Amino acid sequence: MSKVYNFCAGPAMLPAPVLAKAQQELLDWQGLGTSVMEVSHRGKHFIELADKSEHDLRKLLNIPSNYKVLFMHGGGRGQFAAVPLNITKAGDKASFVDTGVWSKKAIEEAQRFIDTDVVASSYQDEQGLWHVPQQQVVEVADDSKYLHFCPNETIEGLEFNFCPQASNGAPVIADMSSTILSRPINVADYGIIYAGAQKNIGPSGLAVSIVRDDLVGYARQQTPAILNYQLTDEFDSMYNTPPTYSWYLAGLVFEWLLEQGGVAAMAQRNQAKAGILYDYIDQSEFYRSQVAADSRSWMNVPFQLANDDLNAAFLAQAEQAGLRALKGHRIVGGMRASIYNAMPEQGVVALVDFMKEFERTQA
Ligand code: PMP
Repeated sequence: MSKVYNFCAGPAMLPAPVLAKAQQELLDWQGLGTSVMEVSHRGKHFIELADKSEHDLRKLLNIPSNYKVLFMHGGGRGQFAAVPLNITKAGDKASFVDTGVWSKKAIEEAQRFIDTDVVASSYQDEQGLWHVPQQQVVEVADDSKYLHFCPNETIEGLEFNFCPQASNGAPVIADMSSTILSRPINVADYGIIYAGAQKNIGPSGLAVSIVRDDLVGYARQQTPAILNYQLTDEFDSMYNTPPTYSWYLAGLVFEWLLEQGGVAAMAQRNQAKAGILYDYIDQSEFYRSQVAADSRSWMNVPFQLANDDLNAAFLAQAEQAGLRALKGHRIVGGMRASIYNAMPEQGVVALVDFMKEFERTQA
């Protein structure tokens, strides 16, 4: 089979060496004569895996010791509910930045439990280009319990390159599902960082939540046990049976990231990869980006063709060329190339070569 590059937004491609290692160990993990999927999560070997993965993630993101690292179920959306359930009471209020689809879904879920205020939003400039809100300090009500934002909107391709603060000093909560581990961050700027795994961490089924310890211990009485940060922490993320295979693969991804030079090295690569694609789009009359330069995602690059009637031909020919899953989300239309950590630069170069050739034959 010729080389395939998978641009899916999630579940997304995993690093090839990680999959090769998983394949090699599939039938006999740690000399146990069984796969990792078939052993008890309470056994010594799995507990070692769990400890090492936490240790590696702490190292990668330089997570201070006053933060808990929790491996949870329920993906990103589970955390949409976990956050208000764990850190607010009925009748409380929290503030939200709205930059797109995933911001809105987080707001909708939170509305089941609290009052929500949208305090800043993405906007279009005179050229019609989209920006994330620029306020470093976002004005919120004095009694607002937290400020939630989505640092990278997977569908719109809008990314923050800073962490906003709340004017009342409330904790900032970030849905990093599609950007975690793509660049260095200062964890201490956040109260809670969470991410569904299936983009930059591993397979779906797992969520990682990094929670400042003063926010643990206030869950509402009716919070489901598997969403409760305190219980999850007390049981070392094994209150019930964790998604062991996803966790195992996440551990392999963390090892791979450390071998690559960590998130600083990934940031350089990701910026270079995104640059190749945006530079080509910007000089072309045929393709365009609807996102302003200051808000462009390094992870998800939506782009439009000059004529939407060509979308089907573009996708069919891209597929033939081994370039998979480029169809944009229906809300944005056009195309979207998701180029997470696992996407090598050659994949982006192959995409740009294809785009050039398509432009040449269509123009
Ligand atoms: N937040 C963001 C930014 C996402 O991109 C997604 C999934 N695409 C989610 C949340 C939801 O994640 P999950 O499907 O794991 O619940």
